[in-house]
Amino acid sequence: MSTLMRATGTFTKLLSPSSHSFSLRPSASLLTRHQMSTEVENVITRLKNSGLLRSQGLIAGKWVDAHDRKTIKVCNPATGEVIVDVPCMGQKETNDAISSAFEAFYSWSKLTATERSKYLRKWYDLLIAHKEDLGQLITLEQGKPLKESLGEVSYGAGFIEFSAEEAKRIYGDIIPATLPDRRLFVLKQPVGVVGAITPWNFPLAMITRKVGPALACGCTVVIKPSELTPLTALAAAELSLQAGIPPGVVNVVMGNAADIGDAILASTQVRKITFTGSTAVGKKLMAGAAGTVKRVSLELGGNAPCIVFDDADLDVAVKGALAAKFRNSGQTCVCANRVLVQEGIYEKFANAFSKAVQNLQVGDGFTEGVAQGPLINEAAVQKVESFIKDAISKGAKVLLGGKRHSLGMTFYEPTVIGDVKSEMLLSREEVFGPVAPLLLFKTEEEAIRLANDTNAGLAAYIFTNSIQRSWRVSEALEYGLVGINEGIISTEVAPFGGVKQSGLGREGSKYGLDEYLEMKYVCLGNMNSN
Ligand code: NAP
Repeated sequence: MSTLMRATGTFTKLLSPSSHSFSLRPSASLLTRHQMSTEVENVITRLKNSGLLRSQGLIAGKWVDAHDRKTIKVCNPATGEVIVDVPCMGQKETNDAISSAFEAFYSWSKLTATERSKYLRKWYDLLIAHKEDLGQLITLEQGKPLKESLGEVSYGAGFIEFSAEEAKRIYGDIIPATLPDRRLFVLKQPVGVVGAITPWNFPLAMITRKVGPALACGCTVVIKPSELTPLTALAAAELSLQAGIPPGVVNVVMGNAADIGDAILASTQVRKITFTGSTAVGKKLMAGAAGTVKRVSLELGGNAPCIVFDDADLDVAVKGALAAKFRNSGQTCVCANRVLVQEGIYEKFANAFSKAVQNLQVGDGFTEGVAQGPLINEAAVQKVESFIKDAISKGAKVLLGGKRHSLGMTFYEPTVIGDVKSEMLLSREEVFGPVAPLLLFKTEEEAIRLANDTNAGLAAYIFTNSIQRSWRVSEALEYGLVGINEGIISTEVAPFGGVKQSGLGREGSKYGLDEYLEMKYVCLGNMNSN
């Protein structure tokens, strides 16, 4: 994502009156530049005092600038204000980070599982002890409401805790031999140095979901967070040092994404690349990994159907669809992208859902009661606008919202669009914004066909009171995760990942560790000799 795109939001926009009528509840008070600056300054001062506002990369345990001193600005999406400058790193710094991770790999992988587990546990304890600081940092650079940011810290830290526990349970196998004088073993060994590239929408959790299991298995890592949200990654890395995790085990570089990615791909020392982000970039990395035959894990975009059947409990369906759609202002890979509603409940659902959406308070993530923060940047708003324009031109109806919020900047009104059809962009692609498109269907078969009519296959949601139907439909959905009567299903103890073009591999749970392990078959022969 270019710096130019990110910096497009300006104060001029914040201060200019909206030309649209104001139909949704605003936050407690309309934001002024002065109020926002004061709030942000207070938060930044607190974070500086806590030592967690780092503004350099981390290589071999040292905080470093880019070799040519180039920097990029990290901005608060709610105000456009610059929080801090961070180094704009590239190939050289990435190669240094890879060398540092390669050097650290030998000793880190030789530690006992119990020792690695203790380091991870200490890191987890520090993440939780600094929950408030990290939550504020997430809201500051990403914009989500503070309550959601604090939830992300618990969720993100959970991967480190789970990995600390699982580190002690990485077992091999003994296979019954086919010849009497032989013994056959399977050893599980760390893959080696891992390159981890992560997006901006979960600045902590997308990193811990990779780094926790990698470290537990004995791997070392080079992390590349999004240039939009590197500060949480740097704070988490600082806490890893405080936890005593040796220098070089965790490295963080940020800046020129393509250069950093190319250096990771080209290196024969990096044995695995794990990526969370868009399908387009994921495909490039997958192709690039072929050059050195690296292992690849991909967590890519989704196009989640949320299917509401006639026999659903209306309140449960409204609550679940609201959570699945509007979390993080619609900017998650598992956000409901299409709400498919059966004809018998369509009107009732559309009314109740729109009413619930209308009550979502929009504003700066630090304001009490706010449920919808800004979108990440101007490009994100323009994408939402183009999808809505496309839908309206093809006959969809705006039931609620449908325009920029009067708060200005990148705030967008929580929106419900009715009469959406499967050929519209809203159905075909990830909107990644606070827009719920409603599609009507008649039969269970039609719902399954519509739901599977996409190249994506990450998350799906079903609302029904029929146990039989919930099983039937879950089995028929071509998705990696299915929520039944539940809109928020991610947890560190369950496997997370997509099928089709939503990705490869799984993160979280006991299965997530396999991604960082090589299997080695050892045959011990000549057993009968003394
Ligand atoms: P993105 O543009 O693909 O960026 C993701 C990461 O890749 C960022 O760190 C980005 O760096 C980096 N990047 C971009 N171009 C690169 C290149 N040529 N080589 C190496 N790295 C490169 O995605 P995003 O906009 O940040 O995130 C939104 C997407 O992520 C959505 O599609 C969403 O569904 C998906 N996502 C998936 C999951 C999942 O678990 N399946 C979870 C969260 C998000 P810069 O930002 O510095 O440019």
